[in-house]
Amino acid sequence: QGGRAQADRVLTAQDWLHKWETGAAAFHKEHGHPLLEKYLDTLLSGRSGLRIFFPLCGKAVDMKRLADLGHSIVGVDISEQALKEFFADQGLPYCEEPVPGIAGAKKLQSTSGNICLYCCSIYDLSSAIVGKFDGVWDRGALVAVNPCDRPRYASLMISLMEKNSSYLLVTVLYDPNKHKGPPFYVPESEVESLFG
Ligand code: SAH
Repeated sequence: QGGRAQADRVLTAQDWLHKWETGAAAFHKEHGHPLLEKYLDTLLSGRSGLRIFFPLCGKAVDMKRLADLGHSIVGVDISEQALKEFFADQGLPYCEEPVPGIAGAKKLQSTSGNICLYCCSIYDLSSAIVGKFDGVWDRGALVAVNPCDRPRYASLMISLMEKNSSYLLVTVLYDPNKHKGPPFYVPESEVESLFG
């Protein structure tokens, strides 16, 4: 029952903005994600100066961590508040400009140039706008996508990946009948059918 109820549930952009406004962004972690540390070598596989994508980035501190290692970070979130809090929390100056081709979108770029965050829906992005990536850190992203949007999300992600890119995905195993989130259950079989 719960699994079904989750599959039909939809979180709107307004719901997410409301979470940020009311301080209900409980998913945010003050410290770097331990699984990123654990699998960092897999993500980088000895390469330097990578372009790394953070879908549905929120204000993840891991963006700063990877930027400090010399990589170039691109993130996207619909919450301008989240993105501005990221720069403020990290003490990074940034500048703001519109994004040609996406009405109403903004690009917030660190003055140092290596962290570029798009404020828009991820579905507005394409490789023509953001280029392709050598690596993806997906924590709180696929599991936050509405179940009905998963195929669209997965094919977009695949279209944004370079040939040799690595994709680190964090999902959570739990009983969707007993727990409401975070916020959607994505079983292993679904990951396989989406990404092959
Ligand atoms: N990855 C971050 C945030 C996870 S919560 C972390 O691990 O902390 C999911 C985030 O996705 C929220 O910040 C929400 O504002 C954003 N979001 C939800 N739907 C979106 C969409 N269609 N496009 C861009 N961002 C979206």
